Amino acid sequence: KAVMEKILWRRSLQLCDQQRAWQDSPEGRKMLEFRKSLPAYKEKDAILKAISQSQVVIISGETGCGKTTQIPHFILESEIESVRGASCSIICTQPRRISAMSVSERVASERGEKLGECVGYKVRLEGIKGRDTHLLFCTTGILLRRLLVDRNLKGITHVIVDEIHERGMNEDFLLIVLKDLLPRRPELRLILMSATLDAELFSSYFGGAPILRIPGFTYPVRTQFLENILEMTGYRLTLYNQIDDYGQDRVWRISKQAPRKRKSQIASAVEEALRSADFKEYSPQTRESLSCWNPDCIGFNLIECLLCDICENERPGSVLVFMTGWDDISSLKDKLLSHPILGDPGRVSLLTCHGSMASSEQRLIFDEPKDGVRKIVLATNIAETSITINDVVFVLDCGKAKETSYDALNNTPCLLPSWISKVSAQQRRGRAGRVQPGECYHLYPRCVYEAFAEYQLPEILRTPLQSLCLQIKSLQLGSISEFLSRALQSPELLAVQNAIEYLKIIGALDKNENLTVLGQYLTMLPMEPKLGKMLILGAIFNCLDPILTVVAGLSVRDPFLTPMDKKELAEAAKSQFSNDYSDHLALVRAYEGWKDAERDFAGYDYCWKNFLSMQSMKAIDSLRREFFSLLKDAGLVDSNAITCNAWSHEEHLIRAVICYGLYPGISSVVHNEKSFSLKTMEDGQVLLYSNSVNARESKIPYPWLVFNEKIKVNAVFLRDSTAVSDSVLLLFGGSISKGDIDGHLKMLGGYLEFFMKPAIAEMYQSLRRELDELIQT
Ligand code: ADP
Ligand code: MG
Repeated sequence: KAVMEKILWRRSLQLCDQQRAWQDSPEGRKMLEFRKSLPAYKEKDAILKAISQSQVVIISGETGCGKTTQIPHFILESEIESVRGASCSIICTQPRRISAMSVSERVASERGEKLGECVGYKVRLEGIKGRDTHLLFCTTGILLRRLLVDRNLKGITHVIVDEIHERGMNEDFLLIVLKDLLPRRPELRLILMSATLDAELFSSYFGGAPILRIPGFTYPVRTQFLENILEMTGYRLTLYNQIDDYGQDRVWRISKQAPRKRKSQIASAVEEALRSADFKEYSPQTRESLSCWNPDCIGFNLIECLLCDICENERPGSVLVFMTGWDDISSLKDKLLSHPILGDPGRVSLLTCHGSMASSEQRLIFDEPKDGVRKIVLATNIAETSITINDVVFVLDCGKAKETSYDALNNTPCLLPSWISKVSAQQRRGRAGRVQPGECYHLYPRCVYEAFAEYQLPEILRTPLQSLCLQIKSLQLGSISEFLSRALQSPELLAVQNAIEYLKIIGALDKNENLTVLGQYLTMLPMEPKLGKMLILGAIFNCLDPILTVVAGLSVRDPFLTPMDKKELAEAAKSQFSNDYSDHLALVRAYEGWKDAERDFAGYDYCWKNFLSMQSMKAIDSLRREFFSLLKDAGLVDSNAITCNAWSHEEHLIRAVICYGLYPGISSVVHNEKSFSLKTMEDGQVLLYSNSVNARESKIPYPWLVFNEKIKVNAVFLRDSTAVSDSVLLLFGGSISKGDIDGHLKMLGGYLEFFMKPAIAEMYQSLRRELDELIQT
């Protein structure tokens, strides 16, 4: 032991000497000066003192004040100086892999070292770490996985959990596990860091842990919403109320006022947007006030014009554009690169900032551009709080984001963009005022902003519960409801129990709440389990293409448009895609027709003629690609598109796969003389949503409808349905696994008896038994 101590002591002295030498070099001195200019540096002593006095400390401070880069570094420095250094081991978690990588590199360069010496990082499938690494940046998922095998975090002296204000699911999970661990490891230190000020919540969760606040300062930022931007161009934006069968709806119109010469480019971008069918006509039938504003249609042209306007007429300063995700960023970048001004590297340095950028590009974001060159950074919400670009003066905000991931194992992002919160919008705006007074353009109307949620709900509360339960199981965190009851904020118990029940019915969990094989695969597909199930079976039965379309279609806004004044025409247009009693198959045909038309550059006309949303079609197209690569990652398909589509023309099979996914969403079809009525077990009589192809039929020659969604307005309406036969329901309703056959028998038998079809129930039971024996053998 004495020898060990001596070695560690020597090593610490050596590290101290190295640092001193580095800080005496010109570069080292410059770096130290920059560090000293950060607000966090002024609080260094107070921070270190608090950490030495208390097992848990909460630190909050404005974005960019130096929390992420400085605080782990302070701890490292002070441990080394106190000659314990060579034995300390600090872990700092980041919600995203890109920040773990970029921050570790930054801290290493602040120390004049290479990555892998004192400072390292680890993210899934990647990492740089050496024998002497004492400070490790990693994703939260990595630490959670480590806790699976090393419950006490042996050898770790400090755990720093960063960005807790984001309330990511992994961070919330981690806090529950760490809270258990603290009494077992009294010498372990836990430091929580956050940008905004909900620090009290965390403090009380950890028994009144002390809170340190780092003071900050920003310059004022002038804010413009879309109507202000349009006004400069002589347009006015108005929101109309409109009444339809389902109640009130709100529709946007842009009208031309006295046109002005000024900013004529922006005006023509708006004209362009006006030509989009979606924008003029779209009026959704949902009641959510936000969904009637579709920002995509204002689109890239407006951004391009604003950027161009800034480059030509505004004072110097970098521009930060918040986009939804990598897709958007790369297509916008392509567009801008072909612009005479924005694509000219002598005038504009066009950079991107997102989860999968290369590290060489990461460094460029922080560099000052050459004189006369304007830096424009196209970013995702990473640039909101995780990464601070110092010289930003102008911010463009599209108002949407793909929310952070909830898949702890794979860190796969959620697939659909959604509205940000007011706090996020303010955060984005604040990015413009770090060095001087700034400007922020929000590319949506003020009243849309007013309708944003105040805060983003914690991920644990907004993630669909079914996926949440699967996640808890895949991380082996014990009983689902018991685990969740110890969370900072937990979802309602009854809802959790319902979700568990549902997962058992669809065969993702067995009787004892353990993941089945199906359940394990579902955790790899970040989407509703029923959609995941459909995809998996589509892959197994080699009818992937149509199923990819169905699943993508169920994940986006309804592609079939029904404008108020042309309702009849629109419904007729939809029904021409269907002669077989299925909304899902109608969508498959509509999509395939669109794809063919796109090949001839006629996709737009096709959509216009058939009352389809071009935006939704494009979204389906890109989701299909994402889903396919998820299936590939899960090992469920190889890239051979021919074998996975060997049975894609078999409509009965596709119907069966749809049924497999949507079960237990079934209703029975009861015929009377002239028409038919529908019944579900829970609701009794139900109705069809008027734009369903089945609503136009007077007879449905199938005994069952499987449906995707029920909506209760004044009656219960079914949305998107497909008619299926007895045999399909018998074989594909419930789970096809050797697990809980009895449970399913009971459940489905219950349905069949309820609908007075005992003969079929009997047939079903014997079929199921045969199937079970087959599987067993
Ligand atoms: P916080 O975590 O409080 O938001 P950070 O520690 O991330 O702040 O950043 C502190 C400062 O360091 C910011 O001004 C930021 O611009 C700068 N910075 C961070 N990473 C880099 C980097 N890789 N290169 C240059 N500057 C950086
Ligand atoms: Mg930070």
